[in-house]
Amino acid sequence: MYDFKLDQVCAFILSKGARTVALQLPEGLKTHAQRIGDELNARTKANMIILGDPCYGACDLSPHYSRYADVLVHFGHAEIPSISTSDRVLFVEVRFDFDVIPLLERALPMVMKNVGLVTTVQHVPMLTSVKAFLESNGRSCHIGKGDGRIKHEGQVLGCNVTSAYAVRRDVEQFIFIGSGDFHPLAVSLETKRPVLVLDPVMDEVRTMEQLTDRVLRQRYAAIARALDGKRFGILVSSKSGQDRFALALDLADRIRSKGKLADIIVMDEIGPNQLMPFQADAFVSTACPRLAIDDQVRYPKPLLTPVELEVLLGERGWDDYRMDSILG
Ligand code: SF4
Repeated sequence: MYDFKLDQVCAFILSKGARTVALQLPEGLKTHAQRIGDELNARTKANMIILGDPCYGACDLSPHYSRYADVLVHFGHAEIPSISTSDRVLFVEVRFDFDVIPLLERALPMVMKNVGLVTTVQHVPMLTSVKAFLESNGRSCHIGKGDGRIKHEGQVLGCNVTSAYAVRRDVEQFIFIGSGDFHPLAVSLETKRPVLVLDPVMDEVRTMEQLTDRVLRQRYAAIARALDGKRFGILVSSKSGQDRFALALDLADRIRSKGKLADIIVMDEIGPNQLMPFQADAFVSTACPRLAIDDQVRYPKPLLTPVELEVLLGERGWDDYRMDSILG
């Protein structure tokens, strides 16, 4: 069901005269790496190097590929327009094709009159047929344009749902096409609109209300646990598209202005083991928002987003809670 666009990749490799090619795939596609490498090698005669480190997004291009290869082929994500990239890097937007109409027919009784359509890059071309189907069934559809971090209309990232935010006032509900909960959760938290998920992997239609409520309760509890903290670790990721060092400096100043201690900790891969050596009552992540929202249970200490730190410091009310976003 995946289209890895190998004709396009071969043309790129040959046009660059590359003798060695680095292949980078996100976790969900890594099992295809060897087969892709075999086919590209047979067709171009270039050597293939598979980059085995975890990769979660276009924010996470390997900075080391040029030590091993002439070009980098990054599968699975659209480029982030606001981040400049070398012409020796090719982004391959791997499409995941399926028949969305049966899911739409099941969802139809729950679809409101004015809806916004959002999806991940795998399904962006599908938005046209989803819109046509819903409009032929009496609904009005809006597909928003995101900021400079977003390549396609209607596309969302876990850290950036500006394409949804742009049309939130025009819609009563969002429809998300794709799998997993993190992207529709981000849409729900940021737009405060109900979200209906059409999930081709689970073959189900589901709402996000219960999960959104549960996550909000968990986030409130994390802030409460950190409230009396004296020392905070501000985490900065050195991944090219997650690096918010200036924000970390600003947060550290604001923490210190309240008489508390703050350390800025820079690392590439952030995880519970990497944080073990550091004394802190709580950590604040300026890296991918998924770390705090999705992975909190893996961390023994509260792990807050910058927005949640503002709530803790009394600079923002809980009613004004927002999803942590990395804007372009
Ligand atoms: S920061 Fe996180 S959500 Fe944003 S593109 Fe990177 S991996 Fe995806």
